[in-house]
Amino acid sequence: MKTVAFSPSPTKTQLEQEIDRLYQKFKSLNWTKEQCELIAPLTWKINRKKEELNAVILAHSYQMPQIIFGIADYVGDSYGLSRQAMDTQAETIVFCGVEFMAETAKILNPEKRVLIPSLEAGCSLAEGITPEDIRELREKYPNTPVACYVNTSAAVKAECDVCVTSANAVEIIKNWDSDRFIFVPDKHMMSNLGPLTGKEIVGWNAECIVHNQFTKEQVQQLRLDNEGIIILAHTECDPSVVLEADFVGSTGGMIKYVKSSHAEKFALITECGLAERLKVEISGKEIFGSCVLCPYMKKINLENTLQVLNSPQPEHEINVPPDIANRAKAALDKMFEMTTEGDK
Ligand code: SF4
Repeated sequence: MKTVAFSPSPTKTQLEQEIDRLYQKFKSLNWTKEQCELIAPLTWKINRKKEELNAVILAHSYQMPQIIFGIADYVGDSYGLSRQAMDTQAETIVFCGVEFMAETAKILNPEKRVLIPSLEAGCSLAEGITPEDIRELREKYPNTPVACYVNTSAAVKAECDVCVTSANAVEIIKNWDSDRFIFVPDKHMMSNLGPLTGKEIVGWNAECIVHNQFTKEQVQQLRLDNEGIIILAHTECDPSVVLEADFVGSTGGMIKYVKSSHAEKFALITECGLAERLKVEISGKEIFGSCVLCPYMKKINLENTLQVLNSPQPEHEINVPPDIANRAKAALDKMFEMTTEGDK
């Protein structure tokens, strides 16, 4: 384990209290007290450092349980995290997610210092399209509005009319006064949005390396093996997978569905972390997750989070050039303007 400077250690009593706090959360994931003992000194130090710095930790639902339940102040999907980033009163935002999320936080709340613990926390979708690609699409499809998925760089957002997340893409595209839409960069989501919005959707061919792995055969087998199971799929899955599902939407939408449903068994066709989260938060329901991990999300850990709080290096601080930030913010503002908050 990396040695991190500048952190006082907890007293014996403080450590015992921290181990107990963690164990209450993690026992539903079959963690032992010994496993909690291993991470307790780190979670204690991070939580203390956060208070000292007036920092807030925002974490995506695909993060590891030790991040979600050990140190995060808010856990959510891209839409919820954007709202939290915009509204926080903290001086520093530590983003336990991937880079485009931290960039979005900086654009929405430029006065704050935004830190990301790992420089390797990218995203195959965000890396799959450039601003030049958007300009070419605009030439090819003149007078067609462009929606970019939030999983894009700030420079790509700056070229688009509106930004969308999996929580609001259907609502925004449906309500926009145009029969044809350009949606980038996810090829599966592009195909899924056609039937979901009733509009012609053209776009790009990038893919999420996690959701691209699920197949309709896996989903069919799950149903055969588990009578009465409800299957929820993320909008980034292949359309053949989506067709097999009982619900399609964002991770936030999936959580809401499971919490409010009277069914007892659920399968979450998305990154493995969401099922772990729900196993802790929901009792009395059987949750089947996938074992597909996002390698980018998992670059964030307790060690590099403490490191970035204790001694942030300039490269860990997110900055967006003002011209790009202003234009990207216009696309994000349009998203908030067109989203019905009560449903999110
Ligand atoms: S799960 Fe997919 S879309 Fe999300 S960060 Fe990982 S690669 Fe990107």
